Amino acid sequence: MDTGLLVALLNPGIATVLAAAFLLLFLHQKDRPYLALLCAGYICSALGFLLQYFILPIGFLPTKLISAIAFLLAVCLIGNALVARHHRPLPWRGTAAAALAGLGAYCWFMFMVPDLTWRVLSLNLACGAVSLLIGFELRRIPKANFIDRLLNIFVLLAAANLILRPLLVITIDGPFAGYDTFYGSTYWTTMVLSHALVSLMLALTLFTASAFDIVSALRSDSYTDPLSGLFNRRGFEEQSTEVLDHCARLGLPASLILADLDHFKSINDTHGHEAGDRVIMDFARRLREAAGTRAIAGRLGGEEFAVLLPLTDLAGARLLAEALRTAFAAATIEGLPAGTRTTASFGVAARSGDEPLVPLLRRADDALYKAKQSGRDGVRVSYERPPAPGSTTANLAGTNRGFSGMG
Ligand code: GH3
Ligand code: MG
Ligand code: MG
Repeated sequence: MDTGLLVALLNPGIATVLAAAFLLLFLHQKDRPYLALLCAGYICSALGFLLQYFILPIGFLPTKLISAIAFLLAVCLIGNALVARHHRPLPWRGTAAAALAGLGAYCWFMFMVPDLTWRVLSLNLACGAVSLLIGFELRRIPKANFIDRLLNIFVLLAAANLILRPLLVITIDGPFAGYDTFYGSTYWTTMVLSHALVSLMLALTLFTASAFDIVSALRSDSYTDPLSGLFNRRGFEEQSTEVLDHCARLGLPASLILADLDHFKSINDTHGHEAGDRVIMDFARRLREAAGTRAIAGRLGGEEFAVLLPLTDLAGARLLAEALRTAFAAATIEGLPAGTRTTASFGVAARSGDEPLVPLLRRADDALYKAKQSGRDGVRVSYERPPAPGSTTANLAGTNRGFSGMG
């Protein structure tokens, strides 16, 4: 087989397979537009390489120009895809400016002062500058995991390959005489092989990254309650345990509020299940907004909710529960007849020492039960302390056993 043809088809072949793979992934994950950007990027890359070997009827130089544009587009699309994966604003202004400057220089050395060496350098330096910009942008991504860091390394490797390799080869071998010897030069051979290698490594890491993204999205689905958008019981328990461990390590307080909508069954019976769902959504939204970003808010079951508040003592948690209770009791919920009152009861407990989640939940639940017993639409607080470590019976000596009245 003609080795020249094999080399010619190596990069377009790899790029086409990668484009097809990313297209397939995108068709199954339409909410991940970065996969479409990757597909488009690899199509451009395949086109760029093909047009290095196969000349279009429009002529030699115009074909080279289209090939250069395809390469620049490929780098911009793939680079922006890497940033888009993190749902961050795309650095498209910087990347477009670098690409256009490179294209301008390329055209200058093609039509005004024809010089193949400077043409090759313009294209490579522009692609390298785009890669550097992307690498810089990826470094700013918070909470980068191992795969993210690996991707960043490959982007910087690609930048080095685009900037340093041509400079090095031209310094050693001297400028290119013309296209006759260009495709047999050290520059071109190292370009084809290094590009194939970097492109494959980057794509394999990207596939792994997309697999991670999909698995973590599934994981987050299994932790989220679809109706309220809050954590479900499983998510709440796992996240709260993590936060409580963190608070214990730093010696910080934490409190828990449990809430249960009052006579919710009768809301369903009177106004229908859909109206009931709207009440749940309304209450969940209030809970999320009042709790803020540090808190863990969950829907533990039907019409029962919980909020774990780090850095909050009993008085603070009780105030928050009171504010929620008052606002919810005064709320008008869309779809319910005017004047329909919706209320909720609350139980509040502050963590004592390194108390684990389960006893804390139980104490808040006891307080909630008291709130229900005292006529609902109220907040009750647990003053009970968990048994001291090592004691076999609940030691309540010196504590204010029971529940306070409403604030
Ligand atoms: P209490 O004041 O004692 O808490 O009375 P309640 O009626 O709120 O409590 P109960 O446990 O008797 O009824 C809870 C109701 O919540 C029964 C169930 O049909 C309803 N429910 C549970 N999940 C959902 C849901 O997702 N949507 C709707 N609309 N209703 C739900
Ligand atoms: Mg209820
Ligand atoms: Mg209930």
